[in-house]
Amino acid sequence: MPSVSTATRAAKAADHDRKCLLCEHRCGVNRSAGELGRCKAGTEARVFRHRVEYGEEPQLVPSHLVYLSGCDLRCAFCIAEEKAFDPRIGTLLDAPFLQQAIVWGRERGARNLQWVGGEPTIHIPAILRALSGCRDTPPIVWKSDFHATPEALELLRGVVDIHVADFKFGNDTCAERIAGVPRYVEIVERNLLLARESADLIVRHLLLPGHFECCFLPVARWLAEHLPEIPFSIRDGYLPRWQARHHADLADPLPADIGPLARREAALLGLNVVG
Ligand code: SF4
Repeated sequence: MPSVSTATRAAKAADHDRKCLLCEHRCGVNRSAGELGRCKAGTEARVFRHRVEYGEEPQLVPSHLVYLSGCDLRCAFCIAEEKAFDPRIGTLLDAPFLQQAIVWGRERGARNLQWVGGEPTIHIPAILRALSGCRDTPPIVWKSDFHATPEALELLRGVVDIHVADFKFGNDTCAERIAGVPRYVEIVERNLLLARESADLIVRHLLLPGHFECCFLPVARWLAEHLPEIPFSIRDGYLPRWQARHHADLADPLPADIGPLARREAALLGLNVVG
């Protein structure tokens, strides 16, 4: 049966359909009335792909990833490309669809159900509605850009078992230029500390070409100071996708020596490197 907390959270989350403060853009729009904020999402969420994957951190796989269209950021290198940014793409997420998907994932050995995007935070009300209508849900993994508001994170307390946070940029200048988001660093750092209180946490950092000093090192140093025990996943599979060609620094793949260099540096800082 659905947990009481998920149903309760779903009812509370519906407030954001009428005045959306789910992410730190804080648009305040009435999505129920058709008003659109920065993410352009309405009250429905749509699934553009779901499948069991093995490329995640060892403690997650096999993981059943549910990809929702729509996002609050505009990262130029997004591998999901336009699907990430158009919330009208995909199959409607509702309880019958999700129940069937859960059974499908379990039959294929998935250990958990992982919400990804796009960005799931912008769809918290729809996700909680669907989850509260399902039986026997697996552990919930929440893979996010961590641009959520504290109010949004509170809605996930008791629902999410593992947060997977993308800590993408180590400074606000890169974040603003590449993802179009202000005050990035303080928001993500605040949310990491909040999320750790309510669930397990994994922090990911995708190494970007030319961003070792300005992004990787500040991220790693902050983690070493504040969350050294948290699993830190360093991803070195960057490829120039979507709009990356418009940024000179992002137009080429990551040089082969940067991944090992980053892992050595993280180990020297005492971080719990898991990927
Ligand atoms: S999720 Fe964020 S971007 Fe979308 S409407 Fe709400 S506050 Fe605005």
